[in-house]
Amino acid sequence: MDFADSPEQAVFRTEVESFFSKNFPAALEVSDEDDPRTRAEAGGDHGDALKQWRMALVGKGWIAPAWPKEYGGANLSPMEQFILNETVAERGAPVLRVPDVGSTIMVHGTAEQKAEFLPPMVRGESRWCQGYSEPGSGSDLASLQTRAIRDGDDFVVNGQKIWTSGAHLANMIFMLVRTDPEAPKHRGITYLLSPMNVPGIEVRPLVQMSDARGFNETFFEDVRIPVKNAVGEINRGWYVGATHLDFERSSIGSAVGQRKMLDTLKDYLLKERDSKSGKTRLGQVDAPRLEFVDRYIEATVAKTLSQRVISMQARGLIPNYEASMTKVFSTEFNQRIARTSTKLLGLYGGLRDQKSSHTPMGGRWATMYLSSVSSTIAGGTSEIQRNVIATRGLGLPRG
Ligand SMILES: Cc1cc2nc3c(=O)[nH]c(=O)nc-3n(C[C@H](O)[C@H](O)[C@H](O)COP(=O)(O)OP(=O)(O)OC[C@H]3O[C@@H](n4cnc5c(N)ncnc54)[C@H](O)[C@@H]3O)c2cc1C
Repeated sequence: MDFADSPEQAVFRTEVESFFSKNFPAALEVSDEDDPRTRAEAGGDHGDALKQWRMALVGKGWIAPAWPKEYGGANLSPMEQFILNETVAERGAPVLRVPDVGSTIMVHGTAEQKAEFLPPMVRGESRWCQGYSEPGSGSDLASLQTRAIRDGDDFVVNGQKIWTSGAHLANMIFMLVRTDPEAPKHRGITYLLSPMNVPGIEVRPLVQMSDARGFNETFFEDVRIPVKNAVGEINRGWYVGATHLDFERSSIGSAVGQRKMLDTLKDYLLKERDSKSGKTRLGQVDAPRLEFVDRYIEATVAKTLSQRVISMQARGLIPNYEASMTKVFSTEFNQRIARTSTKLLGLYGGLRDQKSSHTPMGGRWATMYLSSVSSTIAGGTSEIQRNVIATRGLGLPRG
């Protein structure tokens, strides 16, 4: 197989690169001392530049590149999307994209739902959180208990969600609720959309070991959600939610970002020299040096797994166990990158204080070390992904 661009893809790549050269604000460019993840999340000092960059992307339809133009997309093919994602990663640009709930609405939503919910996602006006997990339902999500009872044109929702990332910042939520408690557990669930500012929703924070406040508990007390906000058929929401997870797990683009991270680390380590021997850090210790090479090989594997997902999407298929393969590999690979990088940086690798001159590269590797722990749990644990691969991919019996 030839992985090089076709002539049409090469033309598109040139178009993307020239767009970036003309429009990508210098203020958003990554320096060695900068941690792009915290910066993009916070908006920080670069809030105006970020808005300007978003508007430039909106103008091209590149915030939702896969979507039709009428919903603010650009109708790009999966391969063109990959080229766009590659350029974003190579430039170290912040990842600005529509949430996966949008792609789910695109597959299962009505024309009215598409018109109402998709354009604000593209413009960055709606910020969504995900109400799946509950205190007693994580991996066994279909056991969820949050109850929605129909009352006229509304559902009345009561219950609790947990680990709701970004609920404190979100103005919209998509959630799975039980609408038929008598049906078998996968058959009585509905996928609902709701604004967060309606009476009866309360968000309480859960603070993480990295000091970040990303998670929440979300409580629902007699919350009224219009029946028209159900995506797909009532009581068939499990399958809508599964489409959502397939999109979430596909992780297109992250492979290129991982390769870019390794490049940035390599450049830094080659520049940094031991004050006594004058050798670069990469030349000093054999074991981590060889481990670093393994990470480069894995970056190529990750890219190939992403390309498989893309080639399926290009044929109109929604990857399923293939998305689980990408998810499990990519998230465990992130943890290996974090481990190798902190080893290569020695004792300094554990520092996160951005104000200290001893902290390498803004402390991004120590932060990654902490934050990558949870990535093999979020979106379905590695064990659950392996179960999916075993049963749906390899046809093995359920354990
Ligand atoms: C960073 C992060 C962000 C998240 N964001 C959200 C969010 O926005 N919205 C949301 O709804 N949820 C969110 N979650 C929750 C996440 O989906 C759950 O944590 C995850 O599905 C696992 O559920 P659990 O924590 O209840 O673990 P459990 O299901 O209790 O699992 C505990 C352990 O048992 C193992 N296990 C369970 N069942 C099996 C099995 N059948 N076979 C083999 N092993 C098994 C698991 O792999 C795990 O190691 C987030 C989690 C994280 C870490």
